[in-house]
Amino acid sequence: MSPREFVVLGSASQVPTRRRNHNGYLLRWDDEGLLFDPGEGTQRQMTLAGVAAHDVHRICVTHFHGDHSLGLAGVVQRINLDAVPHPVTAHYPASGQQYFERLCHSTAYRERVTLRQQPVSGEGATLVEAGAFTLTARRLSHPVEAYGYRLDEPDGRRMLPDRLAARGITGPDIGVLQRTGRLKEVRLEDVSEVRPGQSFAFVMDTRLCPAVHELAHGCDMLVIEATFLDQDAALAEEHGHLTAGQAAGVARDAGVRHLVLTHFSQRYTDPEDFRRQARDAGFTGELTVAEDLLRVPLPRRRG
Ligand SMILES: [Zn+2]
Repeated sequence: MSPREFVVLGSASQVPTRRRNHNGYLLRWDDEGLLFDPGEGTQRQMTLAGVAAHDVHRICVTHFHGDHSLGLAGVVQRINLDAVPHPVTAHYPASGQQYFERLCHSTAYRERVTLRQQPVSGEGATLVEAGAFTLTARRLSHPVEAYGYRLDEPDGRRMLPDRLAARGITGPDIGVLQRTGRLKEVRLEDVSEVRPGQSFAFVMDTRLCPAVHELAHGCDMLVIEATFLDQDAALAEEHGHLTAGQAAGVARDAGVRHLVLTHFSQRYTDPEDFRRQARDAGFTGELTVAEDLLRVPLPRRRG
């Protein structure tokens, strides 16, 4: 199975810096790649991070501010240039349809890949319900319409070799049991246990609001913006953003296992300040302060 990992393509907020590109992230989830918030320069960052256009199956845009979406033009053209063999589905706020269309048609190019449009409106929606995961979007609190995204893998079952052996079940019979739930008098529950599904949430550009907590609840990995440090909480509130302490407080209350902070304002020079404030807020799980081109594996499964 391909690894499940989160690749940071860019970690700046409004203004890129020498060390931080505009936003951009790829989540590898088995055979699917989800590209989040491609800001300016994402195509180049993909090359540097070893992410191919073929790796992108789905594009999720939280909102149409430039640092989260100006890279769409380049990425969509690259997907077509490389003649990616699968259709690509895009999710974005429906109110930004005009921006989406402009970005996808900002210059001339040969369109050869189907780009499916699945915009989100209202308070949010379930966007994908079958297969490897459920994908939901929830409305956030930002000056323009913005949505956070969450993936949930359904619970599965883990076969227990000792119990299979005790009942003499081997080879193809194991497959029959997994598919049908029963083999003669043996039930699937007798020889397996629940394998908890994994979950991932992406929360970008928002004030604290109920949806932030709902998206983060019990997540294995939460990627969340921490544009500001706590001493600038008034600025964060005014511009519709979070501070490091607020973001970490959400993760603490939600029982998040691995917290990834990103989308840092260019006004701050020491990333360690974000780490310190997250710890001061009482978050004790695994903590990553994002850097460009960093790869973060999803935590091992629970239980
Ligand atoms: Zn924004």
